[in-house]
Amino acid sequence: MGDRFSMDEIRQALGVRDEHFQRRIRELRTWGWVIDGMKDMPGLNAEYLMRQHGWWPGSLDSKPDDTSSIDPHTRRKVLERDGSRCTICGVGAAENYPEPPRNPARMTIGHVIPAQQGGSNKIDNLRCECARCNETVRAESGSGESFDDLLASARRLPAADKKTLLRWLRQNSRERSDLDAVYDRIRLAAPGVRDQLTHWLGERISL
Ligand SMILES: [Zn+2]
Repeated sequence: MGDRFSMDEIRQALGVRDEHFQRRIRELRTWGWVIDGMKDMPGLNAEYLMRQHGWWPGSLDSKPDDTSSIDPHTRRKVLERDGSRCTICGVGAAENYPEPPRNPARMTIGHVIPAQQGGSNKIDNLRCECARCNETVRAESGSGESFDDLLASARRLPAADKKTLLRWLRQNSRERSDLDAVYDRIRLAAPGVRDQLTHWLGERISL
């Protein structure tokens, strides 16, 4: 755990040359393994960082429900409904995270009620989650920020923002505002449409 490995090292260790390891890694991730690649951490040069192991065939826990078994149609519907934006932290697909490491966010499909607690693979129990939130939901330890530090920041928020924050915390999701919804639709449109709208707004508004 915490070590890096390359595809060549895996091939040498297993004596296998023709296995699709990228696909196997994706599969492990759906079983709760946390393996960072270059997309998650730009400093990893063609290497992977092993952060946490999840379910494996010999483990005593039951196998977590495999979200890769969700059919592509349902997957697309969930992404469309949620605007390809993480319902927990609000980051959009391929947008850079606002805090370090500022790598681009990758979207996954998560369960509202976890599969282990009987949650289904139906669309109303699925939601768009970025890989970071999806992993944090399962992680046992948090960021290490203390109650006092967070309280100091929460206190400084205007009353309306405190209300919103309470709602987000209670429902463990961040709803999209009208502004987010319009932004997401523009962001996900063809590049030409996005450019036209940027231009249209730029002509009328000065920042
Ligand atoms: Zn997120």
